[in-house]
Amino acid sequence: KLHNSIQELKGNIRVFCRVRPPVASEMANHGKVASMRFYGDDNDKMELSEEVSSTLGKVTTKSYPFSFDKVFPPESTQEECFEEISQLVQSALDGYNVCIFAYGQTGSGKTYTMEGPPGAGKGMIPRAVQQIYQVAQQLNESNWHYTMEGQFMEIYNETVHDLLGDCSNYGKIKHDIRHEKSGKTVITDMTSVLLDSPARVNTMLRKASQNRATGATNMNERSSRSHSVFMLRLNGDNPVTGERTTGVLNLIDLAGSERLAMSGSTGNRLKETQAINKSLSCLGDVISALLNNKEGGHIPYRNSKLTYLLQNSLGGNSKTLMFVNISPLSEHFNETLCSLRFATKVN
Ligand code: ADP
Ligand code: MG
Repeated sequence: KLHNSIQELKGNIRVFCRVRPPVASEMANHGKVASMRFYGDDNDKMELSEEVSSTLGKVTTKSYPFSFDKVFPPESTQEECFEEISQLVQSALDGYNVCIFAYGQTGSGKTYTMEGPPGAGKGMIPRAVQQIYQVAQQLNESNWHYTMEGQFMEIYNETVHDLLGDCSNYGKIKHDIRHEKSGKTVITDMTSVLLDSPARVNTMLRKASQNRATGATNMNERSSRSHSVFMLRLNGDNPVTGERTTGVLNLIDLAGSERLAMSGSTGNRLKETQAINKSLSCLGDVISALLNNKEGGHIPYRNSKLTYLLQNSLGGNSKTLMFVNISPLSEHFNETLCSLRFATKVN
């Protein structure tokens, strides 16, 4: 292949756990941090513990050990996280389809990881585009010409929305997903932007956030109930050798995984809850099906919009990585445990 050996990647599905630090407001409110231990020669293990008191009043410590491909403790930087995914990102230039997910409860750091706060803390999306852009420029010298095209969409209540279109059209256009024989996934009437410089990413992220604001009365609430998918298509062309490659890099900020209390919700809220639970469990089902039956088995892609959209980038020759984002706070202990268990299921 072109460059960069992919041999070093261990298997096609990997899971990283990232623990965010407490934020200023939590510190100010005397938020209690859960007891966590990080260990392992490859920084791949963690243990969560809680104190449990028995009926007789005896206090014991209960520990829950977990093992992942990598664990990022609270002090880890965006740069350190990106370093671990940069090879995967680059494999999209070699023609691989790649999915990078952020999974976790609302407030656990998914958007921080994917988009990052503006400025120094840039997240995985801007870093990925920047790296691809740089490598593509280097490859120019060996006659490879690349085009980078980005689409950014949101899946809300099993419906796809364009995040890069005209804000006044938000939610008014019906987008269909089609898988062509060539392996290309087409989303009808979806805006595509040419990312011919890394700076365009900022414009794109801003546009997406304007569109999200149009679609929601409360932006945080809306983003916690929808998945956003950044789909970057990389077309490489070498006129000297006649070779061509097509790779797709998908970066997905998933809806909050918290199990919303079903009993209390009705109407739209209930519909949202069901859509989220269905699509997240369906994603888990697809990934475990891929892990468990190597050849020929049925993979339930069609059970949710998200897995159907990503069908050509999940399984087969594709590469998948999931960040499981968790909160450090004691009050989130049970949700954290749920997230870590979900992650174990797909690991
Ligand atoms: P989510 O998208 O999962 O709902 P956010 O990414 O919005 O969560 O993060 C929740 C809060 O925690 C935000 O204020 C964010 O800036 C902060 N945060 C998340 N991850 C980190 C981190 N690694 N370092 C510092 N602050 C973080
Ligand atoms: Mg978010």
